[in-house]
Parts: sequence; structure tokens; C-alpha cells
Amino acid sequence: MKKKILTGDRPTGRLHLGHYIGSLQNRIKLQSTYDQYILVADLQALTDHFDNPAKITQNIVELTKDYLSIGIDPNQTTIVVQSQISEIAELTVYYLNLVTLRQLHRNPTIKYEIQQKGYNKAIPAGFFCYPVSQAADITLFQAELVPVGDDQLPMIEQTNAIVRRFNKIYHTNVLKECKAVLSKTSRLVGIDGKSKSSKSLDNAIALSDPPEVIKQKVFQMYTDPNHAKASNPGRVEGNVVFTYLDAFHSDEESVADLKADYRRGGLGDVVIKNILNDSLQLLLAPIREKRNNLDAKIVKEILHQGTAKAAQLAKVTIAMVREAIGIQSF
Ligand code: ATP
Ligand code: MG
Repeated sequence: MKKKILTGDRPTGRLHLGHYIGSLQNRIKLQSTYDQYILVADLQALTDHFDNPAKITQNIVELTKDYLSIGIDPNQTTIVVQSQISEIAELTVYYLNLVTLRQLHRNPTIKYEIQQKGYNKAIPAGFFCYPVSQAADITLFQAELVPVGDDQLPMIEQTNAIVRRFNKIYHTNVLKECKAVLSKTSRLVGIDGKSKSSKSLDNAIALSDPPEVIKQKVFQMYTDPNHAKASNPGRVEGNVVFTYLDAFHSDEESVADLKADYRRGGLGDVVIKNILNDSLQLLLAPIREKRNNLDAKIVKEILHQGTAKAAQLAKVTIAMVREAIGIQSF
């Protein structure tokens, strides 16, 4: 039997280059050798969008179109709508008993997101506990590998802590620990050069952005504030254009030459931005074209089929979990 993979994305907007380099490329590579499940994480998205559910539901089909356009094959990968699998909620309730508030408070990604969302005074409990719900996602699908960006590492750690605790307390081995699969660029910075590129921060290049928007975003990129004139020596470290050239330009050697020229002085920002724009346009044009040809009806059918298949596996796992805890049906 093939080992299982679980990963997912929140339907909060279009997928971007950070997703592509951080996780999607690995998913495409692994989908033929593993039994891969991808969760359209609408429940998790509700934890910080509970007052705007329409945004989440509208993005379910858009997110799925992004998957299909970059090469996720529905014959190899099962795409699942999280809210339609009620066993996730049940499993979350069992797991909440195995986690302390202290552990949740220590999670660095949650800490950062609380600050970013301005929740310091009133943290919604559902949001605070989403790492527990994520542990339910991963273990319900019996996943051993989880291809993610590095902001998810604390969630994997939390999942494995729950798995060990569950297996120990209930004298069982029904739950499996999982491992993160990280890519070489496991956190792509946003065009502002400040935080990771993210759907919510409006600092990302979406896979479906039209050519002129891509160009506009490339020309907005943070470079080196001390490189006012082309003739000045420039800094490559922390320069977003070079970060993106490293991640997306097909020829490493020519990027190395550009870096040397830039450091020496004599290479202007406009030149490097044009080079980056050319390589991003080349990468994204076929993805956008494929996306434009996708029919929403077929996309919905893929979601129905994937969710129905996932529901079978969810039933099997939840039965094992109930038996391990000793919860009987009367
Ligand atoms: P939101 O702003 O709604 O949280 P997001 O852009 O952070 O959206 P998620 O849906 O939260 O995207 O994340 C989906 C997956 O993509 C996760 O595995 C996450 O680690 C990965 N990912 C997101 N942003 C980046 C990034 N900038 N670099 C690398 N991986 C990323
Ligand atoms: Mg996120």
C-alpha cells in the first residue's frame, strides 16, 4: 500500500509563488508515488474569517482551479473540502483533551499570527486551537508526509506530540507520526521584503495574475535602498529581486553573474527587474492559460468525487480511534 500524504491550503485567495515553490512543486513530484490528499481548508479559514464566510466559499473553486492549472492530477491526488468531513470536528474534540493551553501559547506561528491579526486582547478560541484541528486533518488521513512551508513546522510538531500522547494514554498504536517535506525555498518573502508572501497580506504574485500585474509587482519589489544609482555597488542579500531570481530563474550561472555585477556596481534595478519579469512571465503564462480553460462544473465534480473518497477513509480512521478510546455505540 502506498504511504499517504496530507497537505492543504486555506481558501482565502489565489495561490501564489510562495505556495508554488514552498509546497506545490513537491506535491506534483510526489503525487505519483504516494496516496496524496489535499485539503481545501475552509474550516480553518473560517477561524479568522467567521464573519465573512462568502469570501471562503467563493474561493473553494478558485483554489481548486489553481491546483489543476499547476499540474495536480485528480486521478492521482484526492482533493477534499474540509468542512464536508465531519470526522475532523469529532477528532479535534478528542485531541483538545490532550493539549494544554501552555503548549498552544508557545506555538511561534500562532503567536505571530495573533499579533499580525491584532487579536492580542481577544483571541477567538477556534483560531487559537487550529493547530489541534490541523492534527486531526493529518491523522484522520493517516498521513506520514506533509509537504508544507516552514511556517507549518510548529503544527507538525504539535501533531506528533498529540499522536504520542494519544497512543500512550490509550495503549494503542493506531495513530502515526508524520514528517514535514520542505523545499529548498520553504519561506518565500513577499514583494515588500518584510514578511512571507501571503494571500492575506497583498504582498504576493498570484499564479493567476495577468501579465501586466506581474510586471507591476516585480517593479514594486524591495531592492537595496542604498543602491540609488546604477553605478553604486548594491546588496544582494535581502534584495527581493535576487531572492526571486534564485527561486525562479532557470539558469543559476547567469544569476551568479548578475549578482557579481550588481555587487560591483554598474547594474541598475530596472535591468534585474526586467530579467525577473521575463522569467516569471515564461513560468506563469502556461499555468494561466490552463486555468482559463477550466470549466467550473468539472472542477466541482472533482471536488465531489475527492470528498466522497476521503469520507470513506475518514470513517475507517474514526472507527479505530473510537475503539482505541473505548467509546462504544449503544
Ligand atoms: P493566509 O494568508 O490566508 O494564511 P497563506 O498565503 O499563508 O494564506 P496558507 O493557505 O496559509 O497560505 O498556506 C498553505 C501552504 O502554503 C502551507 O503549507 C504554507 O506553509 C505554504 N506557504 C504559504 N505561504 C508560503 C510562502 N511564502 N513560502 C513558502 N510556503 C508558503
Ligand atoms: Mg497562512
